[in-house]
Amino acid sequence: MSGIPTGNRFIDGVAGLWCVNIGHGRAEMADAIAQQVRTLTYYSAFGAQTNPVAATLAERLCRLTPKGLNHVFFSTSGSDANETAIRTVLRYFTLIGKPNKRHILTLEDAYHGSTYLTASMSGPAFYPGWARETGFIHRVAKPYPYRCPQGMGEAAFLAHLAANLEETIERLGADQVACFIAEPIMGRGIVLPPEGYHRRMGEICRTHGVLYISDEVVTGFGRLGHVFASEARFDIAPDILVSAKGISSGYIPLAATFVSDEIYEALSAPGEVYYHGFTYSGHPVACAAALKNLEIIEREKICETVRDRGLRFQRMLESLTDLALVGEARGSHYMMGIEFVQNRTTRERFPESMKVSERVTRKAYAKGLIARAIMPEVVLLSPTLVLSESDIAAIERILRESIRETMDELSRERLWRPGA
Ligand code: PLP
Repeated sequence: MSGIPTGNRFIDGVAGLWCVNIGHGRAEMADAIAQQVRTLTYYSAFGAQTNPVAATLAERLCRLTPKGLNHVFFSTSGSDANETAIRTVLRYFTLIGKPNKRHILTLEDAYHGSTYLTASMSGPAFYPGWARETGFIHRVAKPYPYRCPQGMGEAAFLAHLAANLEETIERLGADQVACFIAEPIMGRGIVLPPEGYHRRMGEICRTHGVLYISDEVVTGFGRLGHVFASEARFDIAPDILVSAKGISSGYIPLAATFVSDEIYEALSAPGEVYYHGFTYSGHPVACAAALKNLEIIEREKICETVRDRGLRFQRMLESLTDLALVGEARGSHYMMGIEFVQNRTTRERFPESMKVSERVTRKAYAKGLIARAIMPEVVLLSPTLVLSESDIAAIERILRESIRETMDELSRERLWRPGA
């Protein structure tokens, strides 16, 4: 096509939209998808029916979920999987005779999707005036150690976050609060909570009869070195776990909402019908892709590789903190963010209008690396999980050069002074 540049080579430093975990263009994925189209293109999983591929996938995945999450509802995106989680929670509380438990707690600046409800559960960038009107969504302090109140150490910060959650539940009334939803690592800005954070939040939730939803849309399927990071990495015992993206490595849309035995039993009590389902729930072609994806992850020991090579990736990016513009390089394995600051001592932010992260990603793009300016001051790296050592070295080199050039540019434009 004329006008569209072709022939350039890039390292995909963001795995599409942090979803192409097993890497692009796998022939065996294409074959599995084509084979399923020929065998059973579609069969509805609505009501009391299913199809063999969806049933097999459900069985395989439920062997890998945290303890007690033995039931799954398939959908097509992270947004509708989170929407399913909330609808299910509200239905559950109605069924067990606690219909007033309707309030939802989310973290400031979270991202849970783009439907009306899930955008309302996300940060202010995602809900214009209308969505704020829901009245039953409440935000609790985000676990952002780099920007915790001045002078607060990690233990004090954790206590502060716990107190904030507890006060919010008590203010609303535990009999009114249905659930708390959190990403193990927050995607917006790559916010890695203090050690023990999720365990503590889980304890508070349990004490108050509030269900814990772990949104693993990004963190699952190997990105942090585990199929699910909740229990293995963060000691979370969720009542519901939400997955998407890496579940099919983005080859075809699929998402999943895993629920506890307790929730399932209430929903499926004799005489109960839970009217929830999408035309494409448990789509056989998507489920066949997910089965092949899981086979590849297991056969190629991708989680094990991430725990080793991904850690080296993390360390390489952390080494960028020797550059004066970098306030913090943080995250875990293949989920990393680099935050730029005007002044490393005061951690003063750049004005949004300076678009510092975009300046860096544009330069990186010109050098053959796709990185993402996820916030005005944060660049995100969430590559495929099959990078070679030389790809990792190239990512570090390109980012280092791009940040250096950005520092020169900002100095030239008299917008920033090194050494601050
Ligand atoms: N939850 C998290 C943590 C996400 O990062 C995303 C998307 O990036 C979603 C939910 C929504 O997923 P989808 O875009 O598939 O609707």
